[in-house]
Amino acid sequence: MKFNTKTIHGGQHDVDPAYGAVMPPIYQTSTYSQTTPGGHKGFQYSRSGNPTRSALERNLASIENGEFGLAFGSGLAAIDAVIKLLKSGDEVISTNNLYGGSYRLFTQVYEDFGITFHFIGMEHAANIENFINKSTKLIWVETPTNPMMNIIDIKACAAIATKHDILLAVDNTFATPYLQTPLDLGADIVMHSATKYLGGHSDVVLGALVVKDKKLADRLHAIQNASGAICGPQDSFLVLRGIKTLHLRMQRHCENGKAVAHYLLSNPKIEKVYWPGFEDHPNHIVAKEQMRDFGGMISFTTKGNNYDEAIKIVENLKIFTLAESLGGVESLAGHPASMTHWSIPKEERERTGIVDSLIRLSVGVEDIDDLIEDLEQAIG
Ligand SMILES: *Cc1c(COP(=O)(O)O)cnc(C)c1O
Repeated sequence: MKFNTKTIHGGQHDVDPAYGAVMPPIYQTSTYSQTTPGGHKGFQYSRSGNPTRSALERNLASIENGEFGLAFGSGLAAIDAVIKLLKSGDEVISTNNLYGGSYRLFTQVYEDFGITFHFIGMEHAANIENFINKSTKLIWVETPTNPMMNIIDIKACAAIATKHDILLAVDNTFATPYLQTPLDLGADIVMHSATKYLGGHSDVVLGALVVKDKKLADRLHAIQNASGAICGPQDSFLVLRGIKTLHLRMQRHCENGKAVAHYLLSNPKIEKVYWPGFEDHPNHIVAKEQMRDFGGMISFTTKGNNYDEAIKIVENLKIFTLAESLGGVESLAGHPASMTHWSIPKEERERTGIVDSLIRLSVGVEDIDDLIEDLEQAIG
């Protein structure tokens, strides 16, 4: 089955044996009757499993070319489950330019449990080897990175991870499996904030993991059941519905993203545009190799690097909504230094490029003329 068919049909065979409903019913139930102790139809209690969630999990596994999907109450709950594979004394090597909430979870929660995190530049994957020791258990990769749109070579990371027998996890939220499938490139775990492109309509918070290995899946299921950070059936349904149009939305996100990136580049007030589709992007070659297109996430800075001017631009936008998050049908704009990345200390932030004038756009699927007109009036 090809990707554009999997989004709609992947793992969805016979979702309603009772009535043949085309969409899986929302099984709004906590428990399931048993004819005799243990005599159930595959579900006993909805923390451990729910048919609507299972339908989503099968679909997630399908679109990421994996074997097992797990859906969680949020993207961070999914990351939390991955870190719970580790124990005190273990070390993690992570991308230094990553989602602020992931950084917060690692440093403000798990460092207290004796896990050490190294936040490093991975644009040259070989740099990872400098931080590997016998305690290293996990490499955490986000690509494209948030919000600088750096590209990390997943295949090269996988080769290093395999050589040292370390798990490789990839946060695939920005790219989605429409653009890249990390399991095909050698990753062990793919993670999603389905809140973003997979859900696609800014109406649900949900997270996901997909793996190929049965033992790893069993351990993650055990953690999911033991910790309990599951998503409900209604939210599972919404994401499943969202994924059915993922390929259509992504195609438009990519088209509009490309047009916006080129418009910004042509505006004399703009200092720099970060978008992996430009030939002078430092890892454009890798992006071309591992991604099918370049997506709709773009960051830019204005000349003079003025904090107040950046605030004024995001306030002046009318079609782009000033809001956290990304990946919905509607265009959003954000100011990382004061919004998504405020929890990262200023010095560390600026070292990774998140300067005061940086603005991040999640280019939606509206008419491109309206989007460019809006940017033009806001930037001036
Ligand atoms: C939003 C996001 C997360 C966290 O997901 P939630 O669903 O908000 O918990 C993790 N990684 C990336 C790249 C994100 O954009």
